[in-house]
Amino acid sequence: MKVYRDEDADLDLLKGKRIAILGFGSQGKAQALNLRDSGLEVTIGLRPQSPSRKKAEQLGFEVQSLSESCSGAELISFLIPDQVQKEVYQEEVRKNLKEGKCLIFAHAFSVHFKLVEPPDHVDVILVAPHGPGEVMRKKFQAGLGVSGFVGVYENRTGKALQKALAYAKGIGLTRTGVVETTFEHEALGDLFGEQAVLCGGLAELLKAGFETLVGQGLPPENAYLECVHQLDLIVDLIKRFGIAGMYSRISELAEFGSYVNGPRIIGERTRMAMRAILEEIRRGEFTEQFMKSYRKGFEAFKEKRQKESAHPINQVFRNIGESFASE
Ligand code: NAD
Ligand code: MG
Repeated sequence: MKVYRDEDADLDLLKGKRIAILGFGSQGKAQALNLRDSGLEVTIGLRPQSPSRKKAEQLGFEVQSLSESCSGAELISFLIPDQVQKEVYQEEVRKNLKEGKCLIFAHAFSVHFKLVEPPDHVDVILVAPHGPGEVMRKKFQAGLGVSGFVGVYENRTGKALQKALAYAKGIGLTRTGVVETTFEHEALGDLFGEQAVLCGGLAELLKAGFETLVGQGLPPENAYLECVHQLDLIVDLIKRFGIAGMYSRISELAEFGSYVNGPRIIGERTRMAMRAILEEIRRGEFTEQFMKSYRKGFEAFKEKRQKESAHPINQVFRNIGESFASE
């Protein structure tokens, strides 16, 4: 797979071209700041009552309505929550799409699942950073970047990939490296990864380990420090040395036990569940479930969030994990 770096991307392609950043949250704020520091022209598009307006103005950005920002810009970057992109596209963006403009997405979700259906006279590209906005901004200020994906859905001008690479350079991604993907693969992979492995799967694994130890009489703090607190050290080894490299750096006792019992935890049943989850994502069933919940005001979703934060593991985090983490 080709990795694109700074020398493969030309910022001049975007110089003097206005970029409308829709939204000023995690990604919007970080990307706007990085693009401006890269010498590019940025305007922020927000709702009239947006609580982010003041924040953006204090940082010296011009803030316009969503529609105005789109009408005056050549590139339009969707950095609003995925669930609102459909309505914002239909009401504010679509009417401002003159020939040759460029729509930029940080996640392929809306386009791949056809919540947003762009006309064929524009470029549609993906520039998806592998990390939260705050981390991306911090790294950028230190002269570094996070990695990311770029992709092309529509190449009206013949320059879509070059634009994606230039934008990726503007926000600092090519300092580390970007890899080309398709909208389909990014949409499926990102949803599956966060649900089954990185966020949903991992959180359940940690809670299950914690509950088992506490249920058998270990103090909660002890269970937390063993099953949760050391996670970053192992993840760091995996990122730097690979899974085999992690195993070669822990004790033989730990390695031996992992081979014997790891597969008892994640076995064929988990793999079957993973295939089922991916199939539901692929068929659009998950997207439908998510958008239906959004239309109902995320009621059940908010209840789950409440329940989740009441789990004792969060109390132990506040008792001990938080202070240890900041050391
Ligand atoms: P966010 O929730 O942090 O920010 C969204 C911003 O959009 C808000 O601050 C507000 O300014 C605006 N907004 C909210 N509701 C709106 C509405 N109804 N109409 C118009 N504007 C509204 O969002 P985010 O996490 O930065 O995500 C933006 C995009 O970036 C998403 O497509 C997401 O998948 C993608 N992404 C996020 C991350 C991340 O770490 N947060 C990483 C990679 C990609
Ligand atoms: Mg995601």
